Amino acid sequence: MRTLREVIMDARERGIAVGHFNFSDSTQLNAIAEVARELGVPVMVGVSEGERAFVGVAQAAALVAALRAKGQEIYLNADHTKSIAGIKEAIDAGFDEVLFDGSQLSLEENIVQAKEAVAYAHSSGRDVLVEGELGYIGASSKVLDVIPEGAGLDKTDPEVAERFVRESGIDLLAPSVGNIHGMLKNVPDPALDIPRIGAIAQKAGIPLVLHGASGNSEDDIRAAIQNGVCVVHINTEIRVAYRKGIEAGLLATDDVSPAKYLAHGAAQMGDVVKAKLSLFNTR
Ligand SMILES: [Zn+2]
Repeated sequence: MRTLREVIMDARERGIAVGHFNFSDSTQLNAIAEVARELGVPVMVGVSEGERAFVGVAQAAALVAALRAKGQEIYLNADHTKSIAGIKEAIDAGFDEVLFDGSQLSLEENIVQAKEAVAYAHSSGRDVLVEGELGYIGASSKVLDVIPEGAGLDKTDPEVAERFVRESGIDLLAPSVGNIHGMLKNVPDPALDIPRIGAIAQKAGIPLVLHGASGNSEDDIRAAIQNGVCVVHINTEIRVAYRKGIEAGLLATDDVSPAKYLAHGAAQMGDVVKAKLSLFNTR
């Protein structure tokens, strides 16, 4: 089985991207895994600090390991981890990737801590990838009325990205390029800054990760992938679909079996995952 690094490098070469979806329970995880199996594509799944607190760090790792034991290329990321203690915990638990999110630190402090994450990943004896983040893109995976204050305004400077990557030794970079976490309620999300993505990719020299891609147009996402994005994160859109599906499931039956009503959520969510993975994996 390929390592996550090999999967991402292969995507980069082929001009496609690996889909990354967050989960908060095993129903969501199984729905994501099932669609990826159906399509025959590798997939990344992530748990943020909040999602990890709910699922459990060791539990998340064990669930993904169980899928992998059956031969599926599915990889686990510790999404948006703000503390080095959290990074170490995830690496020790067997995660394939950790995202050290120092986007709200000074550049110097971000470099120092990202470097520490890289050193710990290297000492693990496994090929654990470390992603770093530059620029504030908001922090919620919700349907928003307005863009969170400050989110998306400090777009990543390609020169700064170059320095950050060189000094920290990270493997992947999440830049701020007009993307925001969450998605806007009544209008599409703002357009992505495609020329900036291209410039950052060139200066940074490592694969870029597009966060907060819920709400972005297909054309924008396709252009982002063509310009250096190798991983695309979707969370809000699958959360919305999961909730709507469960609501419909509860209305459709008086059955108290969670397997019955949760299956509606899994099905609606699976449709979104399928559309996204098809988009990311097609040139
Ligand atoms: Zn994110």
